[in-house]
Amino acid sequence: MEITSREKIFKMSLPSHVQIVEVGPRDGLQTEPKFIPASDKIALVNALSGTGLAKIEVTSFVHPRTIPQLGDAREVLSGIEKKNGVTYSVLIPNLRGAEMALEVGVDEMRIPVCASETFNQKNVRMSITESLQAIEGIQKISEPAMTPLEVGVALAFGCPFEGEISSEQVTSIVGRLSEMGVTRVSITDPAGIANPVQVKDRISTLLAAFPEIKFSLHLHDTRGMALSSILAAMEVGLATFDSSIGGLGGCPFVPDATGNVVTEDLINMLEEMGIQTNVDLEKLIECSQLAQKLVDRPLVSRILRAGTRQQLIQSHSTSP
Ligand code: ZN
Repeated sequence: MEITSREKIFKMSLPSHVQIVEVGPRDGLQTEPKFIPASDKIALVNALSGTGLAKIEVTSFVHPRTIPQLGDAREVLSGIEKKNGVTYSVLIPNLRGAEMALEVGVDEMRIPVCASETFNQKNVRMSITESLQAIEGIQKISEPAMTPLEVGVALAFGCPFEGEISSEQVTSIVGRLSEMGVTRVSITDPAGIANPVQVKDRISTLLAAFPEIKFSLHLHDTRGMALSSILAAMEVGLATFDSSIGGLGGCPFVPDATGNVVTEDLINMLEEMGIQTNVDLEKLIECSQLAQKLVDRPLVSRILRAGTRQQLIQSHSTSP
């Protein structure tokens, strides 16, 4: 009874279906100090492909000196078993990265631009304007290759170096992307400083101002507000979210940042609320166990530690 009434309350304003983009193999593994062999990365992506996830960010074509862990991008991308119905995307830092990704073959590319000038300089040694010009250069090769390009607007909720990032700054960058013909934009918070009210405010502004753009949200759970912020974003109509298996990850430029919101915790929350994800939670938990084995340390996943609600109920119904 309790769940039925909860579903009724939330379904009035929440999407019936949500798409999850798994970024663990890229965002998650990029900060792992211990090198994970390409064969293990391939095994993780293949396992994730069998869970029902619609999109997986496989790797990044960044220079191996910048992120040695992902220096095997070509090997990993060409080694995975591509499954029908799954979109395989990669992160690219620049034109050279895009050329390399297109050479191997990829379904989608994502390139970041920071809403903070300081962070953008530290990340790619370019101003925001130079980054936007670089994106225009990449469009010249991604469009003929019919490979969609998504732009990640990073530090959209605040920056560890600049402090507050205004809503106007984010809207202005998205406006310039819209003028360039970009139709996919991910709003990202690698520093994990967004809160639900800020997310609701910023996402509703963007959805209203740019109906031609398909937005997604990429939150790190550094301060434990990622799930509540996703709920806030769903309340204003957003239905695509990034997450990371087991909560793998951090951010190379953000001190003590933790990983993305945990994929299995997010799927568990959504499914329990009656929101469809088409993802098999049990298979996902197996992927999380595999990820934990690969990095050789316990991950932050709550579901991995505590089990699902269903498991708890079953254990109580079988024991006196
Ligand atoms: Zn991230």
